[in-house]
Amino acid sequence: MTVATATRARWGARYSDGDLDLHTPALEVFVHHSVTPTLSPSASIEEECAQMRALESIGQSRFGTGISYNAIVFPSGRPYQGVSWDRRGTHTGGRNSTVRSICFAGNFETNRPTDAALATASQIYHGGKGDLWIASAPLRGHRDVSQTACPGKNLYAKLGVIRSGELLDDRPTTPAAPSKPAKPGLLVVDGAWGTATTRRLQQELGTPVDGVVSSQPAVWRATSPGLTTGWDWDATPNGSRMISELQELLRVDRDGKIGPQTISALQRRLGTAVDGVISRESRAVMALQHRLNAGRI
Ligand SMILES: [Zn+2]
Repeated sequence: MTVATATRARWGARYSDGDLDLHTPALEVFVHHSVTPTLSPSASIEEECAQMRALESIGQSRFGTGISYNAIVFPSGRPYQGVSWDRRGTHTGGRNSTVRSICFAGNFETNRPTDAALATASQIYHGGKGDLWIASAPLRGHRDVSQTACPGKNLYAKLGVIRSGELLDDRPTTPAAPSKPAKPGLLVVDGAWGTATTRRLQQELGTPVDGVVSSQPAVWRATSPGLTTGWDWDATPNGSRMISELQELLRVDRDGKIGPQTISALQRRLGTAVDGVISRESRAVMALQHRLNAGRI
């Protein structure tokens, strides 16, 4: 799991954590709203914890299995864990065993979701791909499958923002979860090696952080479509310092240029199929992004 949510203990859960274990990644992710009072973005953590307990009481009285949703996001952008990701909740009737839920605390038929909350939901959705849910799991609104207004028209209109991840780049700092601060700027795990991935790799390798892989052999561009933005392709390449540092780490020739030898060594290190190319939605790049999000290469 890549996004830290405040734990059940932190907000004071009193009832059961769903009703049974779920052993496989979800197939879809559903967005809901709680239709509880919409707190201010500057609400305190204690006010949010109190609303979590109120939400738990509602779920308990309706279904007897504690709080209904997996993750609850407040207008502050702080995320809380409701039902654990590997336990079954009671959120999306008929699908609770195969989907997971992100609930916006408040009423978004009448209020508008904040960018902070949308960004957190986007982090949760993208961070969970290939982990909590399958990489191709769609994000949908509750109303797509039930006769309900949920998640409210103002939030439903913003689902594209959550899907696109557009709020994730340049996001200053993730609002801290009360118990364990979320890491700022988690990478979207999408298997595409662009400027954001390069920037994080540059940070890890201690080279200048500009998101650009300078002067790379143009001859390898076509065979590796998973190398996307920020790659400076050159017919007479000089190589990049970041690739050179990466090669040092991988113990291959240090010429600073990406190519089959370096890519194969990277794939071996990451434990993915070794074919010397970076395909679109590359498994190796997804593994790299996961590791960078966890703060290691
Ligand atoms: Zn709903």
